Amino acid sequence: MAYRNFIDGDWVDSDSGRTFAVLNPADNALVGEVPDCGASEASRAIKAAAAARLGFQQLERSDRTHLLRELSEQMHVRRLELSDLLTAEQGKPRAESEGEIAYARSYLDGAAREADQLPLEQPLDPAETGKNVIVRPTSMGVVGIITPWNFPLAMLAKKIGPAFAQGCPVVVKPAEDTPLTTLLLARLCEEVGIPRGVFNVVTGDPSLIGAEFMSNRDVRMVSFTGSTATGRILIDGASRNFTRLLLELGGHAPFIVTEDADLDDAVSGLIASKFRNNGQTCVCPNRILVPEAFEKRFVALLEAGMRQLVCGRGDRAGVDLGPLINDRAIESVEAQVEDALSRGATRVLGGHRLKFEGLADRFYAPTLLTGCTSQMDCFKTETFGPVCPVRSYRSIDEAVEIANELPCGLAGYVWCGDTERGLSLAQRLECGIVGINDAAPVTASTPFGGVRESGWGQEGGEVVLHEYAPTRTYSIGGSL
Ligand code: NAD
Repeated sequence: MAYRNFIDGDWVDSDSGRTFAVLNPADNALVGEVPDCGASEASRAIKAAAAARLGFQQLERSDRTHLLRELSEQMHVRRLELSDLLTAEQGKPRAESEGEIAYARSYLDGAAREADQLPLEQPLDPAETGKNVIVRPTSMGVVGIITPWNFPLAMLAKKIGPAFAQGCPVVVKPAEDTPLTTLLLARLCEEVGIPRGVFNVVTGDPSLIGAEFMSNRDVRMVSFTGSTATGRILIDGASRNFTRLLLELGGHAPFIVTEDADLDDAVSGLIASKFRNNGQTCVCPNRILVPEAFEKRFVALLEAGMRQLVCGRGDRAGVDLGPLINDRAIESVEAQVEDALSRGATRVLGGHRLKFEGLADRFYAPTLLTGCTSQMDCFKTETFGPVCPVRSYRSIDEAVEIANELPCGLAGYVWCGDTERGLSLAQRLECGIVGINDAAPVTASTPFGGVRESGWGQEGGEVVLHEYAPTRTYSIGGSL
Protein backbone atom coordinates (compact mmCIF):
# COMPACT_ATOMS: atom_id res chain seq x y z
CA MET A 1 0.00 0.00 0.00
CA ALA A 2 1.25 3.49 -0.87
CA TYR A 3 1.21 6.00 1.99
CA ARG A 4 1.57 9.75 1.66
CA ASN A 5 2.92 12.39 4.03
CA PHE A 6 0.63 14.78 5.89
CA ILE A 7 1.64 18.43 5.49
CA ASP A 8 -0.62 21.41 6.17
CA GLY A 9 -3.68 19.17 6.20
CA ASP A 10 -2.93 17.68 2.77
CA TRP A 11 -1.76 14.19 1.83
CA VAL A 12 1.34 14.62 -0.31
CA ASP A 13 4.17 12.74 -2.02
CA SER A 14 7.87 13.60 -1.85
CA ASP A 15 9.04 16.34 -4.24
CA SER A 16 11.12 13.79 -6.15
CA GLY A 17 8.34 11.22 -6.21
CA ARG A 18 10.76 8.77 -4.60
CA THR A 19 9.54 6.35 -1.94
CA PHE A 20 11.09 3.79 0.37
CA ALA A 21 9.74 0.43 1.45
CA VAL A 22 8.67 -0.58 4.94
CA LEU A 23 9.11 -4.32 5.40
CA ASN A 24 7.65 -6.65 7.99
CA PRO A 25 10.69 -7.67 10.08
CA ALA A 26 9.21 -11.15 10.56
CA ASP A 27 9.06 -12.16 6.90
CA ASN A 28 10.29 -9.23 4.77
CA ALA A 29 6.81 -8.80 3.27
CA LEU A 30 6.13 -5.29 1.99
CA VAL A 31 3.88 -3.47 4.48
CA GLY A 32 3.88 -0.07 2.79
CA GLU A 33 5.73 2.44 0.64
CA VAL A 34 6.28 5.91 2.06
CA PRO A 35 7.57 9.18 0.55
CA ASP A 36 11.32 9.65 0.73
CA CYS A 37 11.49 13.31 1.74
CA GLY A 38 14.25 15.68 2.74
CA ALA A 39 14.84 19.30 3.67
CA SER A 40 12.40 20.98 1.26
CA GLU A 41 9.37 18.97 2.42
CA ALA A 42 10.44 19.44 6.07
CA SER A 43 10.74 23.18 5.49
CA ARG A 44 7.21 23.33 4.02
CA ALA A 45 5.86 21.39 6.98
CA ILE A 46 7.57 23.77 9.41
CA LYS A 47 6.13 26.75 7.52
CA ALA A 48 2.65 25.24 7.78
CA ALA A 49 3.12 24.60 11.50
CA ALA A 50 4.36 28.16 12.06
CA ALA A 51 1.31 29.52 10.21
CA ALA A 52 -1.00 27.39 12.37
CA ARG A 53 0.66 28.47 15.61
CA LEU A 54 -1.31 31.58 16.50
CA GLY A 55 -4.73 30.11 15.78
CA PHE A 56 -3.94 26.99 17.77
CA GLN A 57 -2.66 29.00 20.74
CA GLN A 58 -5.74 31.18 20.67
CA LEU A 59 -8.04 28.20 21.13
CA GLU A 60 -9.19 27.77 24.72
CA ARG A 61 -6.90 25.29 26.44
CA SER A 62 -9.97 23.18 27.23
CA ASP A 63 -10.69 22.97 23.47
CA ARG A 64 -7.21 21.63 22.87
CA THR A 65 -7.44 19.08 25.69
CA HIS A 66 -10.84 18.06 24.31
CA LEU A 67 -9.15 17.33 20.96
CA LEU A 68 -6.55 15.22 22.76
CA ARG A 69 -9.27 13.16 24.44
CA GLU A 70 -11.05 12.74 21.10
CA LEU A 71 -7.82 11.53 19.53
CA SER A 72 -7.30 9.07 22.38
CA GLU A 73 -10.87 7.82 21.99
CA GLN A 74 -10.37 7.39 18.27
CA MET A 75 -7.21 5.36 18.93
CA HIS A 76 -9.31 3.10 21.10
CA VAL A 77 -12.01 2.75 18.45
CA ARG A 78 -9.37 1.94 15.78
CA ARG A 79 -7.14 -0.12 18.08
CA LEU A 80 -7.34 -3.31 16.01
CA GLU A 81 -6.28 -1.55 12.84
CA LEU A 82 -3.52 0.27 14.71
CA SER A 83 -2.23 -2.83 16.48
CA ASP A 84 -2.26 -4.94 13.28
CA LEU A 85 -0.19 -2.27 11.57
CA LEU A 86 2.13 -1.87 14.55
CA THR A 87 2.85 -5.59 14.68
CA ALA A 88 3.36 -5.66 10.90
CA GLU A 89 5.90 -2.82 10.84
CA GLN A 90 7.58 -3.36 14.22
CA GLY A 91 7.30 -7.11 14.80
CA LYS A 92 6.12 -7.09 18.43
CA PRO A 93 3.44 -9.59 19.53
CA ARG A 94 -0.16 -8.47 19.06
CA ALA A 95 -0.81 -8.28 22.82
CA GLU A 96 2.16 -5.92 23.17
CA SER A 97 0.90 -3.78 20.28
CA GLU A 98 -2.47 -3.48 21.99
CA GLY A 99 -0.62 -2.66 25.22
CA GLU A 100 1.36 0.05 23.44
CA ILE A 101 -1.82 1.64 22.12
CA ALA A 102 -3.34 1.73 25.61
CA TYR A 103 -0.05 3.10 26.95
CA ALA A 104 0.06 5.78 24.22
CA ARG A 105 -3.53 6.77 25.02
CA SER A 106 -2.64 7.14 28.69
CA TYR A 107 -0.14 9.87 27.70
CA LEU A 108 -2.75 11.77 25.66
CA ASP A 109 -5.35 11.50 28.43
CA GLY A 110 -2.73 12.23 31.10
CA ALA A 111 -1.51 15.40 29.36
CA ALA A 112 -5.12 16.58 28.94
CA ARG A 113 -5.89 15.91 32.61
CA GLU A 114 -2.74 17.59 33.94
CA ALA A 115 -3.17 20.60 31.64
CA ASP A 116 -6.77 21.11 32.72
CA GLN A 117 -5.55 21.42 36.32
CA LEU A 118 -2.68 23.78 35.61
CA PRO A 119 -3.30 27.45 36.54
CA LEU A 120 -3.29 29.72 33.48
CA GLU A 121 -1.33 32.31 35.37
CA GLN A 122 0.42 32.77 38.64
CA PRO A 123 0.20 36.26 40.21
CA LEU A 124 3.02 36.94 42.65
CA ASP A 125 2.39 38.60 45.99
CA PRO A 126 2.86 42.41 45.54
CA ALA A 127 3.92 42.59 49.19
CA GLU A 128 7.00 40.60 48.23
CA THR A 129 7.76 42.03 44.75
CA GLY A 130 6.80 45.65 45.43
CA LYS A 131 4.86 45.72 42.13
CA ASN A 132 2.42 43.70 40.06
CA VAL A 133 4.12 40.67 38.61
CA ILE A 134 2.32 38.01 36.61
CA VAL A 135 3.90 34.74 35.52
CA ARG A 136 2.24 32.94 32.60
CA PRO A 137 3.17 29.75 30.75
CA THR A 138 3.83 30.62 27.12
CA SER A 139 3.60 28.09 24.35
CA MET A 140 6.99 27.12 22.97
CA GLY A 141 5.85 27.37 19.34
CA VAL A 142 6.67 24.87 16.60
CA VAL A 143 8.18 21.62 17.89
CA GLY A 144 10.11 19.16 15.73
CA ILE A 145 9.49 15.62 16.94
CA ILE A 146 11.80 12.70 16.14
CA THR A 147 10.73 9.23 17.30
CA PRO A 148 12.37 5.79 17.47
CA TRP A 149 11.15 2.49 16.02
CA ASN A 150 10.77 0.55 19.26
CA PHE A 151 7.57 2.29 20.48
CA PRO A 152 6.52 4.44 17.53
CA LEU A 153 3.07 5.30 18.91
CA ALA A 154 3.84 5.57 22.62
CA MET A 155 6.93 7.75 22.15
CA LEU A 156 4.94 10.01 19.82
CA ALA A 157 2.01 10.27 22.26
CA LYS A 158 4.42 11.31 25.05
CA LYS A 159 5.26 14.32 22.92
CA ILE A 160 2.07 15.35 21.16
CA GLY A 161 0.06 15.14 24.43
CA PRO A 162 1.88 18.04 26.10
CA ALA A 163 2.56 19.80 22.77
CA PHE A 164 -1.13 20.02 21.84
CA ALA A 165 -2.23 20.81 25.40
CA GLN A 166 0.17 23.76 25.40
CA GLY A 167 -0.65 25.01 21.90
CA CYS A 168 2.45 23.80 20.01
CA PRO A 169 2.04 22.69 16.39
CA VAL A 170 4.38 19.83 15.50
CA VAL A 171 6.32 18.35 12.59
CA VAL A 172 6.99 14.66 13.17
CA LYS A 173 9.78 12.61 11.65
CA PRO A 174 9.12 8.95 12.49
CA ALA A 175 11.80 6.25 12.29
CA GLU A 176 12.41 4.73 8.84
CA ASP A 177 11.53 1.22 10.04
CA THR A 178 8.15 2.20 11.54
CA PRO A 179 6.56 5.27 9.92
CA LEU A 180 3.18 3.71 9.09
CA THR A 181 1.43 3.90 12.46
CA THR A 182 2.43 7.58 12.68
CA LEU A 183 0.81 8.18 9.28
CA LEU A 184 -2.30 6.32 10.45
CA LEU A 185 -2.33 8.54 13.53
CA ALA A 186 -2.20 11.57 11.20
CA ARG A 187 -5.39 10.23 9.61
CA LEU A 188 -7.01 10.08 13.07
CA CYS A 189 -5.82 13.65 13.83
CA GLU A 190 -7.51 14.75 10.62
CA GLU A 191 -10.72 12.90 11.50
CA VAL A 192 -11.02 14.36 15.01
CA GLY A 193 -10.46 17.89 13.71
CA ILE A 194 -6.93 18.78 14.84
CA PRO A 195 -6.58 22.10 12.97
CA ARG A 196 -4.78 22.14 9.62
CA GLY A 197 -1.01 22.56 9.97
CA VAL A 198 -0.90 21.53 13.63
CA PHE A 199 0.13 17.90 13.02
CA ASN A 200 2.51 17.29 10.12
CA VAL A 201 4.42 14.12 9.25
CA VAL A 202 7.51 14.00 7.03
CA THR A 203 9.14 10.63 6.30
CA GLY A 204 12.55 10.23 4.75
CA ASP A 205 16.22 10.99 5.20
CA PRO A 206 16.90 11.48 8.93
CA SER A 207 19.99 13.64 8.57
CA LEU A 208 18.42 15.98 5.99
CA ILE A 209 15.15 16.37 7.91
CA GLY A 210 17.02 16.62 11.23
CA ALA A 211 19.34 19.29 9.80
CA GLU A 212 16.30 21.30 8.63
CA PHE A 213 14.81 21.07 12.14
CA MET A 214 18.03 22.43 13.62
CA SER A 215 18.61 25.21 11.09
CA ASN A 216 15.06 26.52 10.67
CA ARG A 217 14.37 29.43 13.03
CA ASP A 218 10.69 28.59 13.22
CA VAL A 219 11.49 25.37 15.10
CA ARG A 220 11.74 26.45 18.73
CA MET A 221 12.25 23.03 20.25
CA VAL A 222 13.16 19.54 19.11
CA SER A 223 11.74 16.72 21.18
CA PHE A 224 13.71 13.58 20.48
CA THR A 225 13.63 9.98 21.64
CA GLY A 226 16.36 7.74 20.32
CA SER A 227 20.00 6.87 20.70
CA THR A 228 22.60 8.88 22.57
CA ALA A 229 24.66 9.07 19.34
CA THR A 230 21.85 10.90 17.52
CA GLY A 231 21.20 13.02 20.62
CA ARG A 232 24.80 14.24 20.37
CA ILE A 233 24.28 15.28 16.72
CA LEU A 234 21.21 17.27 17.76
CA ILE A 235 23.10 18.93 20.62
CA ASP A 236 25.75 20.07 18.12
CA GLY A 237 23.04 21.33 15.74
CA ALA A 238 21.21 23.20 18.49
CA SER A 239 24.06 25.66 18.95
CA ARG A 240 23.13 27.35 15.67
CA ASN A 241 19.74 28.78 16.71
CA PHE A 242 19.81 27.87 20.41
CA THR A 243 17.00 25.40 19.68
CA ARG A 244 15.64 23.96 22.92
CA LEU A 245 16.09 20.21 23.20
CA LEU A 246 14.13 17.58 25.07
CA LEU A 247 16.23 14.42 24.80
CA GLU A 248 15.18 10.93 25.86
CA LEU A 249 18.20 8.80 25.03
CA GLY A 250 19.66 5.35 25.55
CA GLY A 251 20.27 3.50 28.80
CA HIS A 252 21.81 0.25 30.01
CA ALA A 253 19.84 -0.53 33.13
CA PRO A 254 21.35 -2.35 36.10
CA PHE A 255 19.10 -4.86 37.88
CA ILE A 256 20.38 -5.44 41.42
CA VAL A 257 19.05 -8.40 43.38
CA THR A 258 19.78 -8.07 47.10
CA GLU A 259 20.42 -10.88 49.57
CA ASP A 260 16.99 -10.63 51.19
CA ALA A 261 15.07 -10.63 47.87
CA ASP A 262 12.44 -13.22 47.02
CA LEU A 263 14.28 -14.88 44.13
CA ASP A 264 11.15 -16.23 42.39
CA ASP A 265 9.68 -12.76 42.43
CA ALA A 266 12.95 -11.20 41.21
CA VAL A 267 13.08 -13.65 38.30
CA SER A 268 9.45 -12.96 37.28
CA GLY A 269 10.09 -9.21 37.45
CA LEU A 270 13.29 -9.54 35.46
CA ILE A 271 11.68 -11.65 32.73
CA ALA A 272 8.69 -9.28 32.46
CA SER A 273 10.90 -6.24 32.11
CA LYS A 274 13.80 -7.71 30.13
CA PHE A 275 11.79 -9.42 27.40
CA ARG A 276 9.18 -6.73 26.70
CA ASN A 277 9.48 -5.94 22.98
CA ASN A 278 12.13 -8.67 22.73
CA GLY A 279 14.57 -6.70 24.85
CA GLN A 280 14.33 -3.67 22.57
CA THR A 281 13.39 -1.07 25.18
CA CYS A 282 15.42 1.77 26.61
CA VAL A 283 14.56 0.72 30.19
CA CYS A 284 15.44 -2.98 29.75
CA PRO A 285 17.42 -4.56 32.57
CA ASN A 286 20.70 -5.27 30.80
CA ARG A 287 23.21 -5.76 33.59
CA ILE A 288 21.98 -8.31 36.11
CA LEU A 289 23.81 -8.16 39.44
CA VAL A 290 23.25 -11.00 41.91
CA PRO A 291 24.87 -11.76 45.30
CA GLU A 292 27.56 -14.41 44.85
CA ALA A 293 25.96 -16.71 47.41
CA PHE A 294 22.64 -16.84 45.52
CA GLU A 295 23.88 -16.76 41.95
CA LYS A 296 23.48 -20.49 41.26
CA ARG A 297 19.88 -20.61 42.50
CA PHE A 298 18.98 -17.39 40.74
CA VAL A 299 20.44 -18.54 37.41
CA ALA A 300 18.61 -21.90 37.63
CA LEU A 301 15.30 -20.11 38.22
CA LEU A 302 15.99 -17.63 35.44
CA GLU A 303 16.92 -20.37 32.99
CA ALA A 304 13.70 -22.24 33.80
CA GLY A 305 11.65 -19.06 33.28
CA MET A 306 13.39 -18.17 30.03
CA ARG A 307 12.81 -21.66 28.62
CA GLN A 308 9.07 -20.90 28.73
CA LEU A 309 9.37 -17.96 26.33
CA VAL A 310 7.85 -18.62 22.90
CA CYS A 311 9.45 -17.00 19.83
CA GLY A 312 7.76 -16.47 16.49
CA ARG A 313 6.00 -13.94 14.33
CA GLY A 314 4.11 -11.37 16.37
CA ASP A 315 0.75 -11.97 14.72
CA ARG A 316 0.70 -15.63 15.85
CA ALA A 317 -1.22 -16.37 19.06
CA GLY A 318 0.84 -17.25 22.12
CA VAL A 319 4.09 -15.67 20.94
CA ASP A 320 6.18 -13.81 23.56
CA LEU A 321 9.13 -12.68 21.44
CA GLY A 322 8.95 -11.50 17.85
CA PRO A 323 11.83 -10.80 15.44
CA LEU A 324 14.46 -8.13 16.01
CA ILE A 325 13.74 -4.97 14.06
CA ASN A 326 16.33 -5.32 11.27
CA ASP A 327 19.53 -7.05 10.20
CA ARG A 328 21.75 -4.49 11.95
CA ALA A 329 19.95 -5.17 15.21
CA ILE A 330 20.46 -8.94 15.15
CA GLU A 331 24.07 -8.55 14.04
CA SER A 332 24.80 -6.27 16.98
CA VAL A 333 23.19 -8.70 19.47
CA GLU A 334 25.16 -11.54 17.95
CA ALA A 335 28.40 -9.54 18.16
CA GLN A 336 27.79 -8.74 21.85
CA VAL A 337 27.21 -12.38 22.71
CA GLU A 338 30.29 -13.51 20.75
CA ASP A 339 32.36 -10.82 22.46
CA ALA A 340 31.19 -11.98 25.92
CA LEU A 341 31.91 -15.64 25.12
CA SER A 342 35.34 -14.81 23.74
CA ARG A 343 36.14 -12.98 26.99
CA GLY A 344 35.18 -15.85 29.23
CA ALA A 345 31.40 -15.63 29.81
CA THR A 346 29.47 -18.90 30.10
CA ARG A 347 26.50 -19.56 27.84
CA VAL A 348 23.68 -21.10 29.87
CA LEU A 349 20.95 -20.74 27.27
CA GLY A 350 20.55 -19.48 23.70
CA GLY A 351 23.34 -17.59 22.00
CA HIS A 352 22.18 -18.31 18.44
CA ARG A 353 19.64 -17.37 15.78
CA LEU A 354 16.38 -19.28 15.47
CA LYS A 355 15.29 -20.49 12.04
CA PHE A 356 11.61 -20.62 11.14
CA GLU A 357 10.50 -21.81 7.75
CA GLY A 358 9.30 -18.99 5.53
CA LEU A 359 10.40 -16.32 8.01
CA ALA A 360 13.25 -13.83 7.96
CA ASP A 361 16.57 -14.60 9.62
CA ARG A 362 15.95 -12.10 12.46
CA PHE A 363 14.91 -14.26 15.38
CA TYR A 364 17.35 -14.64 18.25
CA ALA A 365 17.02 -17.20 21.02
CA PRO A 366 16.53 -15.88 24.57
CA THR A 367 20.10 -15.91 25.84
CA LEU A 368 21.44 -16.28 29.36
CA LEU A 369 25.12 -15.58 30.06
CA THR A 370 26.96 -15.81 33.36
CA GLY A 371 30.42 -14.76 34.48
CA CYS A 372 30.11 -11.37 32.77
CA THR A 373 32.57 -8.57 33.51
CA SER A 374 32.97 -4.83 32.89
CA GLN A 375 35.43 -5.60 30.08
CA MET A 376 32.69 -7.22 27.99
CA ASP A 377 30.74 -5.16 25.50
CA CYS A 378 27.45 -6.40 27.01
CA PHE A 379 28.36 -4.57 30.22
CA LYS A 380 29.49 -1.44 28.38
CA THR A 381 27.12 -0.83 25.46
CA GLU A 382 23.32 -0.78 25.44
CA THR A 383 21.90 -4.20 24.51
CA PHE A 384 18.81 -4.15 22.32
CA GLY A 385 17.84 -7.80 22.25
CA PRO A 386 16.87 -10.87 24.30
CA VAL A 387 20.15 -11.25 26.18
CA CYS A 388 20.46 -11.51 29.98
CA PRO A 389 24.09 -11.09 31.14
CA VAL A 390 24.48 -12.04 34.82
CA ARG A 391 27.32 -11.05 37.10
CA SER A 392 27.82 -11.83 40.76
CA TYR A 393 28.85 -9.30 43.40
CA ARG A 394 30.33 -9.64 46.89
CA SER A 395 29.13 -6.44 48.56
CA ILE A 396 26.42 -3.87 47.92
CA ASP A 397 29.14 -1.24 47.48
CA GLU A 398 30.60 -3.30 44.65
CA ALA A 399 27.15 -3.65 43.04
CA VAL A 400 26.61 0.13 43.23
CA GLU A 401 30.03 0.78 41.74
CA ILE A 402 29.31 -1.51 38.79
CA ALA A 403 25.83 -0.02 38.31
CA ASN A 404 27.23 3.52 38.16
CA GLU A 405 30.32 2.85 36.06
CA LEU A 406 28.77 3.91 32.71
CA PRO A 407 28.15 7.47 31.51
CA CYS A 408 24.45 6.76 30.92
CA GLY A 409 21.72 6.78 33.57
CA LEU A 410 18.20 5.99 32.46
CA ALA A 411 16.40 3.23 34.39
CA GLY A 412 17.59 0.94 37.17
CA TYR A 413 16.00 -1.82 39.24
CA VAL A 414 16.43 -3.03 42.79
CA TRP A 415 14.87 -6.30 43.88
CA CYS A 416 14.83 -6.59 47.67
CA GLY A 417 13.02 -7.89 50.75
CA ASP A 418 13.06 -4.69 52.78
CA THR A 419 11.77 -1.80 50.68
CA GLU A 420 13.21 0.88 53.02
CA ARG A 421 16.67 -0.58 52.48
CA GLY A 422 15.82 -0.97 48.80
CA LEU A 423 15.01 2.74 48.59
CA SER A 424 18.33 3.66 50.22
CA LEU A 425 20.12 1.49 47.68
CA ALA A 426 18.08 2.98 44.82
CA GLN A 427 19.10 6.49 45.90
CA ARG A 428 22.73 5.54 45.30
CA LEU A 429 22.07 4.66 41.65
CA GLU A 430 22.67 7.33 39.00
CA CYS A 431 19.46 6.73 37.10
CA GLY A 432 16.43 8.81 36.15
CA ILE A 433 14.02 6.21 37.48
CA VAL A 434 14.46 3.16 39.72
CA GLY A 435 11.92 0.36 40.01
CA ILE A 436 12.02 -1.10 43.52
CA ASN A 437 10.38 -4.51 43.22
CA ASP A 438 8.67 -2.93 40.22
CA ALA A 439 9.27 -4.23 36.69
CA ALA A 440 7.32 -1.43 34.96
CA PRO A 441 8.07 1.83 36.78
CA VAL A 442 7.25 4.20 33.89
CA THR A 443 3.65 5.46 33.63
CA ALA A 444 2.00 8.52 32.12
CA SER A 445 1.75 10.14 35.55
CA THR A 446 5.41 9.51 36.38
CA PRO A 447 7.94 12.23 35.59
CA PHE A 448 10.84 10.45 33.95
CA GLY A 449 13.97 11.42 32.07
CA GLY A 450 17.54 10.22 31.95
CA VAL A 451 20.56 11.70 33.70
CA ARG A 452 24.04 12.21 32.28
CA GLU A 453 24.22 10.85 28.68
CA SER A 454 20.68 9.47 28.88
CA GLY A 455 19.03 12.77 28.23
CA TRP A 456 17.82 16.24 29.08
CA GLY A 457 14.40 17.01 30.53
CA GLN A 458 11.55 14.80 31.58
CA GLU A 459 8.36 13.40 30.12
CA GLY A 460 5.20 12.28 31.93
CA GLY A 461 3.25 13.83 34.80
CA GLU A 462 2.77 17.57 35.09
CA VAL A 463 6.43 18.39 34.65
CA VAL A 464 6.44 17.74 30.88
CA LEU A 465 3.87 20.50 30.32
CA HIS A 466 6.44 23.07 31.43
CA GLU A 467 8.90 21.79 28.81
CA TYR A 468 6.41 22.82 26.07
CA ALA A 469 5.36 26.11 27.72
CA PRO A 470 8.04 27.76 29.83
CA THR A 471 6.81 30.63 31.92
CA ARG A 472 7.14 34.24 30.87
CA THR A 473 7.05 37.07 33.39
CA TYR A 474 5.14 40.35 33.06
CA SER A 475 6.15 43.04 35.53
CA ILE A 476 3.72 45.97 35.64
CA GLY A 477 5.24 49.21 36.80
CA GLY A 478 3.48 52.22 38.32
CA SER A 479 1.78 52.48 41.67
CA LEU A 480 0.22 49.40 43.19
P1 NAD B 1 18.26 6.36 16.55
O1 NAD B 1 18.89 7.50 17.26
O2 NAD B 1 19.04 5.64 15.54
O3 NAD B 1 16.95 6.84 15.79
C1 NAD B 1 15.94 7.56 16.45
C2 NAD B 1 15.33 8.55 15.50
O4 NAD B 1 16.34 9.49 15.14
C3 NAD B 1 14.83 7.92 14.19
O5 NAD B 1 13.66 8.56 13.79
C4 NAD B 1 15.97 8.23 13.23
O6 NAD B 1 15.56 8.29 11.90
C5 NAD B 1 16.38 9.59 13.73
N1 NAD B 1 17.72 10.01 13.33
C6 NAD B 1 18.79 9.24 13.04
N2 NAD B 1 19.84 10.01 12.69
C7 NAD B 1 19.43 11.30 12.76
C8 NAD B 1 20.04 12.55 12.52
N3 NAD B 1 21.30 12.66 12.12
N4 NAD B 1 19.31 13.66 12.70
C9 NAD B 1 18.02 13.59 13.11
N5 NAD B 1 17.37 12.43 13.33
C10 NAD B 1 18.07 11.29 13.16
O7 NAD B 1 17.68 5.39 17.67
P2 NAD B 1 16.83 4.06 17.43
O8 NAD B 1 17.78 2.99 17.11
O9 NAD B 1 15.69 4.30 16.53
O10 NAD B 1 16.16 3.85 18.87
C11 NAD B 1 16.76 3.12 19.85
C12 NAD B 1 17.39 4.05 20.86
O11 NAD B 1 16.38 4.87 21.42
C13 NAD B 1 18.00 3.29 22.01
O12 NAD B 1 19.22 3.86 22.35
C14 NAD B 1 16.97 3.49 23.12
O13 NAD B 1 17.50 3.36 24.41
C15 NAD B 1 16.49 4.87 22.83
N6 NAD B 1 15.17 5.10 23.45
C16 NAD B 1 15.11 5.91 24.54
C17 NAD B 1 13.89 6.12 25.17
C18 NAD B 1 13.78 7.03 26.38
O14 NAD B 1 12.68 7.30 26.84
N7 NAD B 1 14.89 7.51 26.91
C19 NAD B 1 12.74 5.48 24.69
C20 NAD B 1 12.85 4.65 23.57
C21 NAD B 1 14.08 4.48 22.95
